[in-house]
Amino acid sequence: MLIAGNWKMFKGVAEAASFCHELREADLGDVDVVVCPPYTALATAVQVLAGTDIGVFAQNVHWEDEGAFTGEVSNAMLRELGVYGTIVGHSERRQYFCETDETVARRVEGALAAGLHVIACVGETEAEREAGETEAVLRRQVSVLEPDESLVIAYEPVWAIGTGRTATPELAQEAHAFVKSLLDLPVLYGGSVKPENAADLLAQPDVDGALVGGASLDVDSFAAICRAGSRS
Ligand code: PEP
Repeated sequence: MLIAGNWKMFKGVAEAASFCHELREADLGDVDVVVCPPYTALATAVQVLAGTDIGVFAQNVHWEDEGAFTGEVSNAMLRELGVYGTIVGHSERRQYFCETDETVARRVEGALAAGLHVIACVGETEAEREAGETEAVLRRQVSVLEPDESLVIAYEPVWAIGTGRTATPELAQEAHAFVKSLLDLPVLYGGSVKPENAADLLAQPDVDGALVGGASLDVDSFAAICRAGSRS
């Protein structure tokens, strides 16, 4: 069971340091825990969480080791900081920054080859779900990925991200089972996971953890989600 907190573009260095100090002391139960701070707070998070089992992931990475790619960060740069893995293909990157299945595949491949762990995100928009295209979209997004022991998938229905609308446990289970039928890897659920709904979602047989956005920004709610995962 893996619980990952995606901080998105929240928390600078000072806030990240105090969050990670509090996280060290929190009761997280018996689950694997990862935090994904913005780039500028990665080094601080790695330092403050050193000696714990809590992993630090980036939110994105480029596929080349270096080069003329203004605004991008490489696997080698993340490795140098002691970062353990990275999210790739989050729907906000796909929606707002022109991320495509092809660039997702290149980023995932590059990160795995460099020895990072990867959480690769897939999920349908509301319009796609209403048009009955959910399975086709998931098939297309998953088809560019190859099985790898350092890769997990996050199923994040776009209509549930940051909206307060959570997929029902049954709907999440159905989508997870479908994703696993395409690629036999652990699948995290993401989309408005909170302490109140975490236990029911994480109890589904094919839900192997959660990728948590908003509720991961507060230590108490993130720890409560981790403990819910621990009981599942
Ligand atoms: C996310 O950032 O991946 C996410 C699922 O966000 P939220 O939990 O806020 O919906």
